Amino acid sequence: MAEHVRVAVIGTGFGGLGAAVRLRREGITDFAVLERADAVGGTWRDNSYPGCACDVPSHLYSFSFAPNPEWPRAFSGQPHIRAYLEWVTDTYGLRPHIRFNTEVEQARWDGDSNHWHIRTSRGELTADVVISATGPLSDPKLPDVPGLAQFPGRVFHSSRWDHDYELKGKRVAMIGTGASAIQIVPAIQPEVARLTVVQRTPPWVLPRVDRGIARGEQWLHGRIPATARARRGLLWLIREFQVGAFVKHPKLMKTVEQLARAHMRRAVRDPALRTKLTPDYTIGCKRILLSNAYYPALARPNTEVVASALKEVRGSTVVMADGTEREVDAIIFGTGFHVTDMPIGDRVIGADGRTLAEHWKDGMAALRGCTVDGFPNLIFIIGPNSGLGNSSMILIAEAAVNYAADYLRTLKQTGAAALDAKPAAVRAWNAEMQRRMARTVWNTGGCTSWYLDSEGRNTTAWPGTTAEYRRATRRLRIEEYDVLLTATAPAPAEAAI
Ligand SMILES: Cc1cc2nc3c(=O)[nH]c(=O)nc-3n(C[C@H](O)[C@H](O)[C@H](O)COP(=O)(O)OP(=O)(O)OC[C@H]3O[C@@H](n4cnc5c(N)ncnc54)[C@H](O)[C@@H]3O)c2cc1C
Repeated sequence: MAEHVRVAVIGTGFGGLGAAVRLRREGITDFAVLERADAVGGTWRDNSYPGCACDVPSHLYSFSFAPNPEWPRAFSGQPHIRAYLEWVTDTYGLRPHIRFNTEVEQARWDGDSNHWHIRTSRGELTADVVISATGPLSDPKLPDVPGLAQFPGRVFHSSRWDHDYELKGKRVAMIGTGASAIQIVPAIQPEVARLTVVQRTPPWVLPRVDRGIARGEQWLHGRIPATARARRGLLWLIREFQVGAFVKHPKLMKTVEQLARAHMRRAVRDPALRTKLTPDYTIGCKRILLSNAYYPALARPNTEVVASALKEVRGSTVVMADGTEREVDAIIFGTGFHVTDMPIGDRVIGADGRTLAEHWKDGMAALRGCTVDGFPNLIFIIGPNSGLGNSSMILIAEAAVNYAADYLRTLKQTGAAALDAKPAAVRAWNAEMQRRMARTVWNTGGCTSWYLDSEGRNTTAWPGTTAEYRRATRRLRIEEYDVLLTATAPAPAEAAI
């Protein structure tokens, strides 16, 4: 018979590890964390490209319960964030729970036994509850480019960096100008022979106010933890105040645009290049990027920007939609991730036998970003409409973990086998999300971005402050759920919502 656990957590990024710490704190030790890779870290394990670093200061981009007084920089690099997650794993005793090299291939809800049947690459198990923390930016997205398979050089995605390939002296095409690409470009430009940056849409770029954290500050944060908390609080507050401009008053973003224009003017003298690099949409519509090195790298003689999309690959030549052709040795895709088509959706099968992807064919939606009707006892950490444009995703992950903890407590208190979000509750939540979304810069700023799905719906971003999300997920509202006591019969005393 398959092993049974109370909770199966999928993923060991910030979300999965945060959930695991919380389960232990709630006194739940009967849980397994399933991770397809051979190490913890999620985003910060997979993205090891040169220059990879956080866009949110480390004192905020870390767990509230696990402060690290020793962050070396305001915006720490990937190696330090990854090391931090390894440290959390050991410090909180999570390693015995983690099953590495264990990919969840299918999770199917069994309404007869009221639990999940999970098929992994290393066998089967069952669980009363599944916490899915598979990550919003985890599975790389590669465009379907004719001729790419025949390209004789090297091809890789930013999140699957080929460290065995020597870029020195090579002619490289960087496809995309998003958050990863703008970190990669300045890191590799000095060593490559020629760098062709293929830009479909230019990003808005602001200065990165980064600096090393002095030993004195580290000492102070270690000795007097209240100083680290105050620093975190201030960083958080500044970002909370910014939210209004994103979600209610996009016109205010015009001032920020002036800053970005001045930032570009300082680094790029060539007016033709400036024209190419100037976006035609409101700042904030796509993720605002932070870099002091990107524009200077673009202005170097061995770099060129082709303001067009990659159309095809002919032998070793990349061909752009505007007809530009360049022979290259390597193609690096900085083309992002499967965000609005969450890959786990194809692998999760709900009460009615349909996959989550089928259930979401008209767009992703989850009650409070966490639960979906017809998928009992499945809780998302960073689910639909819980992404941020300007602050730390760890705040969101911790809030969702809190919701998961209350969910488990509710199961225990009510004696229920399962909870199933009411369709009306999910619909009402989603309608509110979409209503609020209509005013945001993401929807009105005149761009297409990975926040939007193929129908133009914003099913990824959270249209509020992180404090609002924390409030929304502080406790589970039982009236939003059908309480399943037995295989078939919902509890009689359901409150209508
Ligand atoms: C380059 C980069 C920079 C970023 N910078 C910032 C930033 O500055 N600020 C910010 O707030 N956010 C940033 N993000 C977003 C970042 O993804 C989140 O902040 C956060 O790390 C997500 O954590 P997570 O645990 O939800 O997902 P992830 O870290 O993606 O972890 C998901 C885990 O699930 C595992 N997994 C997935 N599917 C399966 C399966 N079927 N079976 C088993 N295991 C599975 C994966 O292997 C992975 O370990 C960045 C993302 C990227 C890619």
